[in-house]
Amino acid sequence: MEEDILKGNDKQEEEFEETLRPNFLKDYVGQEKIKENLKVFLGAAKKRKHVLDHLLLYGPPGLGKTTLAYIIAKEMNVGIKVTSGPAIERAGDLASIITNLEDGDILFIDEVHRLNRSIEEVLYPALEEFKLDIIIGKGPSAKNLRLEVPHFTMIAATTKIGLLSSPLRDRFGAVHRLDFYNEEEIGQILNRSSKILKIKVDKEGVGEIAKRARKTPRIANRLLKRVRDYADVKADGAVNLEVAKKALEMMEIDEMGLDKIDRKILKLILENFGGGPVGIDTIAAATGEESDTIEDIHEPYLMQLGFLERTRQGRKLTRKALKYLGKSDQESLL
Ligand code: ADP
Repeated sequence: MEEDILKGNDKQEEEFEETLRPNFLKDYVGQEKIKENLKVFLGAAKKRKHVLDHLLLYGPPGLGKTTLAYIIAKEMNVGIKVTSGPAIERAGDLASIITNLEDGDILFIDEVHRLNRSIEEVLYPALEEFKLDIIIGKGPSAKNLRLEVPHFTMIAATTKIGLLSSPLRDRFGAVHRLDFYNEEEIGQILNRSSKILKIKVDKEGVGEIAKRARKTPRIANRLLKRVRDYADVKADGAVNLEVAKKALEMMEIDEMGLDKIDRKILKLILENFGGGPVGIDTIAAATGEESDTIEDIHEPYLMQLGFLERTRQGRKLTRKALKYLGKSDQESLL
């Protein structure tokens, strides 16, 4: 089966990401404002020997939210437990995770927007007063028990901040939005990764991959691996401009980093819906892709490129997108 560069998501992929994950803030490329902020935030907590305030990180997948949570744990020298919204199915799951933490530890909840609302309710007193209300037993003999839990820090991540309930949002002492990376930053990440993976790649090769990596570290690292595989088979293992170009062309990733599905979405909006506006569910149904995938992976990048606009009526192509699709302004007015 063909590996999907944008989705990935198997065990091997996780291990690959782990080997490339920077451990300290100084190795975390870009996101300067967040890093500056965090340095103050972490410094103050260390100085006052306080537990860090709860922190919310949001932004498209692959921009470094999980990495940042691990780095914070390392920098603070505390333990970290990693879970996700959909993995916490019952209040009991949450209780057992939290009661197993130690003071100062970090609880990282990925995809926090998918946390069940009834579990959110149990989480609130734990976040605010470090108390958990649990019910023991069933029916008339059920008892309410209030437990003291360790003073932990929750770091939550989401790709869809709009889906968070406002009481949950209010529980965070700091909220940071991760931005897409520029080509130079992606280049730095690629250089670092190629050193770790012992891949021979020249400056032009790095530049070409950086250009097509959707401004996203995760994609950059995946492309690097795929280009290296190509170089191993078709060249002498070294990656230069020509090898990178050929490999990326073979993967059908164009000069702007768009893949087959991005192009399918753009063409569909143009050809079937006159350039939009069209609702996300309609786009999903017509392309055969899941609307979550479109919203999380394709749409943010297309919007970042200035190809797609969100209006109240739905998604609309911009002039820039029409130009990319080879339509003149005249035609687009039709
Ligand atoms: P997210 O949690 O936002 O989906 P991750 O933290 O899992 O993203 O990052 C995906 C991959 O990209 C990881 O392998 C990580 O090493 C790399 N990465 C992300 N951000 C950076 C960064 N700022 N500097 C270096 N590598 C990064």
